[in-house]
Amino acid sequence: MAREEESLPERLAVIGGDAAGMSAAAMARRSDPELAIVAFERGPYTSYSACGIPYYVAGLFDDSDRLVSRSPDEFRQAGIDVRTRHEVTAIDLDRRTLTVRDLDARADREEGFDQLVYAAGAVAVVPPIPGAQACQPVRTVAEGERFRARLRHSRSRHAVVIGASYLGLEMAEAMVIRGLEVVLVDRADQVMGTLDRDLAAHVQDAAEGVGIRVMLSVEIEEIRHDEDGRPRGVVTSAGTLPADHVVLSTGVVPATELTQAAGLRHGESGALRVDDRQRCVEADGVFAAGDCVESWHRVLQRPVNIQLGTHANKQGRIAGVNATGGDIAFPGVIGTAVSKICRYEVARTGVSEREAADAGIDVVAATVKDKTRAGYYPGSGPIWVKLVAEKHGGRLLGGQIVGVEGAAKRIDVLAACVWTGMSVDELELMDLSYAPPFSGVYDPLLVAARQTAKAVRKADG
Ligand SMILES: Cc1cc2nc3c(=O)[nH]c(=O)nc-3n(C[C@H](O)[C@H](O)[C@H](O)COP(=O)(O)OP(=O)(O)OC[C@H]3O[C@@H](n4cnc5c(N)ncnc54)[C@H](O)[C@@H]3O)c2cc1C
Repeated sequence: MAREEESLPERLAVIGGDAAGMSAAAMARRSDPELAIVAFERGPYTSYSACGIPYYVAGLFDDSDRLVSRSPDEFRQAGIDVRTRHEVTAIDLDRRTLTVRDLDARADREEGFDQLVYAAGAVAVVPPIPGAQACQPVRTVAEGERFRARLRHSRSRHAVVIGASYLGLEMAEAMVIRGLEVVLVDRADQVMGTLDRDLAAHVQDAAEGVGIRVMLSVEIEEIRHDEDGRPRGVVTSAGTLPADHVVLSTGVVPATELTQAAGLRHGESGALRVDDRQRCVEADGVFAAGDCVESWHRVLQRPVNIQLGTHANKQGRIAGVNATGGDIAFPGVIGTAVSKICRYEVARTGVSEREAADAGIDVVAATVKDKTRAGYYPGSGPIWVKLVAEKHGGRLLGGQIVGVEGAAKRIDVLAACVWTGMSVDELELMDLSYAPPFSGVYDPLLVAARQTAKAVRKADG
């Protein structure tokens, strides 16, 4: 939609200087070179890769600046007034002002805005366990730097990671790489709740294979610290573990304290409710993007809050364009995600069998174990592919892959199939590539599709 001159906003304010916020600011700048744009970020960095923090902690590289894809100065040179170490403490939608605290000067001031992009992300959940408050999360570059410095300066060898999500697993592996003895504890009875149990079991094997002790169905009762505030032990329902380092990976919630107070609408997930233009529809000129918002799930057909950098970057771009008079829709999500956990690439898209059951969708599922290369080609390893399809008609609704290689890119094929509503019958004969170093002549996806199509025919009568 062409932007009319008279509707040009005078000043765009952005709250949150990472993936969603700075994507919005950069797109707004590109769409409207004249617009005044100010971005408030309470930390010292902008556009940093939280995703790279476990690899930095592991010591795969030493310079934390490499986690920053665009610094505050680079944004300033592009004409965006970036205020780092500035925290927004209140939003007044009627007066169109923000209360902003300069964290270094310890001074508050009011800042006006015409358009607002809220992109404050998510905050770590601290479980209600004695001693948990004293454990720092490791979600930002600064927190990653502090944590790595503690590892470097301590001769202690015991670490406990609480929470076996992909983040907990990545951090556990990072500390194994640094030579620590690591215990991973979760109250759930499997690692990685985003996978079905059968695929998660392979991830657990991989973690245990590098020496991580995995304790499941275990409750944390207390985290003990010494008089200097350093962790000393974790008391669990299965005994007390020595712990010189504790990482809490017990989930996050959308950062909505300010938007709740401002009277914006939130969905059942607790995240901000936005339309497909990233607009908070009840407040003119207010947009939101990233971990703090709900996104439309194309398979579940309802809003969900899934925290991924892939969603945050795209939604931020869309918010930035639409805040400057454009008209782009965000098409929704299917929760495509990938991680490297010890020897395996671990990937998922769409819905798992359990998520389908929870949503009342009748599905059939099939899992195949295959090889990543032709049998005679050196270096082949195992790969498991699980597909979930609608019981009636066989539409592909989701996939999970765990394998020594090739899971990361194969999941994108499955994502495209789920996205476009393809059936497992169609996938079974799809023209995928082949050469011995990459797969057998039937790619593991095609083998899995064949098994799933068979199961659909059987279940569907
Ligand atoms: C360790 C780790 C690994 C990850 N790995 C992956 C991965 O491999 N793939 C993937 O897709 N995703 C990954 N993610 C998730 C991804 O990093 C997030 O989804 C993404 O960063 C969300 O971007 P965002 O801009 O919405 O929020 P955030 O990145 O959380 O940014 C929000 C920013 O707002 C600032 N802020 C908040 N409140 C205020 C306020 N009141 N005033 C001023 N500033 C404020 C915060 O300081 C923060 O910098 C990972 C996350 C972590 C922590």
